[in-house]
Amino acid sequence: MLWRQIQKNNFTDLNTLLDFLEIEPIHRVNFLEKSPFVLNLPQRLAQKITKQSLNDPILLQFLPLLLEQNPDGELDPVKDKDFQKTTSLLQKYSSRALIITTSACAMHCRYCFRKNYDYLPSNFQNELELIKNDSSLEEILLSGGDPLSLSDEKLFNLLEALDKIPHLKRIRFHTRFIVGIPERIHEGFIKKIQSLKKQLFFVIHVNHAKELDEDIFIASKKLLSCGIPVLSQTVLLKGVNDDIETLVDLFKALSNRGIIPYYLHQFDPVQGSMHFEVPIETGLNLYAQLKNHLPGYAVPRYVQEIPGHLSKTPLTAFERQSTGC
Ligand code: SF4
Repeated sequence: MLWRQIQKNNFTDLNTLLDFLEIEPIHRVNFLEKSPFVLNLPQRLAQKITKQSLNDPILLQFLPLLLEQNPDGELDPVKDKDFQKTTSLLQKYSSRALIITTSACAMHCRYCFRKNYDYLPSNFQNELELIKNDSSLEEILLSGGDPLSLSDEKLFNLLEALDKIPHLKRIRFHTRFIVGIPERIHEGFIKKIQSLKKQLFFVIHVNHAKELDEDIFIASKKLLSCGIPVLSQTVLLKGVNDDIETLVDLFKALSNRGIIPYYLHQFDPVQGSMHFEVPIETGLNLYAQLKNHLPGYAVPRYVQEIPGHLSKTPLTAFERQSTGC
């Protein structure tokens, strides 16, 4: 498979990446040479990084920094463990559940809230059994890791099994693959998903317009042409996208090509990534400005995941006042 070959060329060695980006040895003192959450960056994204720049908004998302040694934050900030039905099936909200399909990703985002998750391999039999026996479930989210990291065979075995469960109505992919390796949406993949009866949704994770290009839009268009809505989610990240121009550019670039901005997430305070945190007050201020620059459909919901809440919690100035937080 072409996409597997492309994935093998990801940057996984820090000095090779820094050489490629022409970062002078004198500037290499602030990086973490070894981390259990290893460097993993697709060539496509690396090629978009401005050479000799340590402040590039793509680079900042993927470069292991010494700042990651800061012990602040939590190992499991969204309390995934409290909502496990198995290690690969989580249910936080009514009528929907999430399958942790794999630990593998197209890339390793340094701010990932699931970077410490205790992933265990699964053939999904237990998860499918639980889903079959719970008729209150209408939607299954495929997450991870990244569900598109699975081989087509394993992914379609799972999809076909879900497709046969009568009470399920929707299957939703959460993926960053299309942004890093859009070749994953190949012809055979499209043919297979067209054979499924359930309504599919794709939510792609993108944080900066610089991550986007024509191949990514073509991959999204293939999905849209099959009647699959493509939505986006973005994490508000310090130094990456915490200014109004960057957010407006991103949400315009997405909506110009039929991708609906869905969520702007408040950063989840995961240990080792606290340098990405943007205060909620700043987020609210940016959010208020977004509404002045974009049509309603291009303004995502600004939300925070608060463990135990019955859905993602919308962050609005009103809610902040009324809850006193
Ligand atoms: S692609 Fe998603 S799951 Fe993988 S590291 Fe990035 S944020 Fe985490």
